[in-house]
Amino acid sequence: MTQSNSLANFASQKLRALERRKLRRHVTETRPLSAVDVVRNDKRLTSFSSNDYLGLTHHPDVIKAAVEATHKYGTGAGASRLVTGNHPLFSELERKLAKLKGTDDAVVMGSGYLTNIGVIPVLMGPQDIIFSDELCHACILSGNRLSGAAEHLYRHNNLDDLRDQLAAKRDKHRHALIVTDGVFSMDGDLAPIAELIKLADEFDAWLMTDDAHGIGVLGGGHGSSFSGGDCLNVPLQMGTLSKAIGSYGGYLCASQPVVDLIRTRCRSFIYSTGLSPSAAAAAIAALDLICADPELSALPIKKARLFTSALNLPDAQSPIVPIILHDTERTMAAAKFLESEGYLVVPIRPPTVPVGTSRLRIAFSAAHKDADVKRLAELVQSVLDPSDERQ
Ligand SMILES: *Cc1c(COP(=O)(O)O)cnc(C)c1O
Repeated sequence: MTQSNSLANFASQKLRALERRKLRRHVTETRPLSAVDVVRNDKRLTSFSSNDYLGLTHHPDVIKAAVEATHKYGTGAGASRLVTGNHPLFSELERKLAKLKGTDDAVVMGSGYLTNIGVIPVLMGPQDIIFSDELCHACILSGNRLSGAAEHLYRHNNLDDLRDQLAAKRDKHRHALIVTDGVFSMDGDLAPIAELIKLADEFDAWLMTDDAHGIGVLGGGHGSSFSGGDCLNVPLQMGTLSKAIGSYGGYLCASQPVVDLIRTRCRSFIYSTGLSPSAAAAAIAALDLICADPELSALPIKKARLFTSALNLPDAQSPIVPIILHDTERTMAAAKFLESEGYLVVPIRPPTVPVGTSRLRIAFSAAHKDADVKRLAELVQSVLDPSDERQ
């Protein structure tokens, strides 16, 4: 058998097995018309599946900044930032991120995924131990595994379980890191950051938060460590520029020595091309808009709460509201029904979420119209049945 035949056989077999378990995935061409309107299969839909929480991907100032940067510096960075790819927009972007997060400095790289898989192995190694929430994002787990450190997953937001695990295991290791999402991407709930800081202090561990869904929308736009009103001192705050910031890229905000170490040792920073000038400039313009208008960052949660109150659910804590339907086929059918009614709500199923918790993940944007939010709530109500536990 030729190599390509043998590979094709291998891939086809794997795909068939996934298909049998209803886990095969497809990408569907979806043409954006605005921050929330898209065309899919020739049908115009209002999307509740984008993480563009502030609608900044289509904001005229953000677009203008991206276009001007492209004219000035070209379309690509051309090389790693350590070689020749460090165009002048990076330092401005990093200064603005550090200011928003209240840290000494920030470092920006290719994506949130690349940030987690790059940063964690710089800080942690085989003598160390990492404690992560069982629902944290896949790229945190990838970073943990690349570091070679021991890894323990604690029960979701369960401080007692984390405390027990720290007490049992911390002492056997040199350094300990606690890593959690600030806002959980598939559940929309928040990590108990103040309590996690206390536990980290008590057990001589470091705390890292992934604020992919917090920056721009919580705490006046500053993110999840500001959501209680105070600025909580989280020493490692990473996130993405690709959600509320409306651009592309990942960042870590931290103290000066940590950021300098990342610039020196982080493989996904060193061996990967810098962000394009347009992405950096768009992010700068977005951060300016967020800082100038705290009301804007409050809007996605307002829309989410309009939705949760219409459905008699507990108040949304973030712009993400899950409607857990448990069964994968039922979830797929519900999403199809919503699509037939003009709303794009992508179904989320294992392995992205635990088995038996397939769900509609609804993400609210400042750009959504209240009328659409209310209509979506009615439609979602119609797919729920009395056996769905109150969530
Ligand atoms: C989206 C996401 C990431 C990855 O960010 P990208 O910039 O899209 O690679 C990391 N962590 C969490 C919690 C996310 O939701």
